[in-house]
Amino acid sequence: MTSIPAIFVSHGSPTLVLDDVPARAFLQGLGDSLPRPRAIVAVSAHYETPGVRVNTDAQPRTIHDFYGFPKAMYEMRYDAPGDPALAADIVGRLTAAGLDADGEERWGFDHGTWVPLTLMYPEADIPVVAVSVDPEAGPDHHRRLGAALAPLRDDRVLILGSGAFTHNLGELRRGGRAELNAPDWVERFVDWTAGAIAEGRTDDLLHYRERAPDAARNHPTEEHFLPLFAALGAGGGGNGRRLHTSTTFSVLSMDAYAFG
Ligand code: ZN
Repeated sequence: MTSIPAIFVSHGSPTLVLDDVPARAFLQGLGDSLPRPRAIVAVSAHYETPGVRVNTDAQPRTIHDFYGFPKAMYEMRYDAPGDPALAADIVGRLTAAGLDADGEERWGFDHGTWVPLTLMYPEADIPVVAVSVDPEAGPDHHRRLGAALAPLRDDRVLILGSGAFTHNLGELRRGGRAELNAPDWVERFVDWTAGAIAEGRTDDLLHYRERAPDAARNHPTEEHFLPLFAALGAGGGGNGRRLHTSTTFSVLSMDAYAFG
């Protein structure tokens, strides 16, 4: 039996699908580096709801949830099928774990889901079930969400958290070669968090907002960091392996991790 590690990726700007940066090359190779999944559960920072909502569509739509980008970005589609049976199974597992969970057809594939999956699995032939984050519920809620889904990894399901390792859009520096010059407040946070993940200091991670240097500056709001905790929980809650590190727009860490 092949168990698939749970993965956290940073999706960066929607234009990551077009931009020739190291994070794009990493994601293009990531799919082939994993056992082939029968389905993917995508926990996206851009699917924000109270509680946990699970997309039950048989054919989810592609959502262009961004403004002011090149026209080509709005023509991109990710036409992977959904998996209503898996979605129902997920709702059952989350409910049994004591979480407020329900299925819905309102959502689909936002760019947190389709940007990395377009690079990882461009054929779009693996069913994908989108799962929401609750931006107010904190890290431990998302760890529990992931933990409830952990057994699916033994059934060839890839649990993919998609967010950003750091995400202060107010301090973006566009253009130039700014990706080479992450400021020290980004580096301090990345180094602390990388150490906590490598050493399996889960309690420190769950309290990162109080314990990590410059936590609130790197994540003025939490939603982009919360998918990391879903992957951590799905991976069994122990230490993780860094798969990739780079920075775009100076302040967006593009780091990726495997758990389990
Ligand atoms: Zn995002």
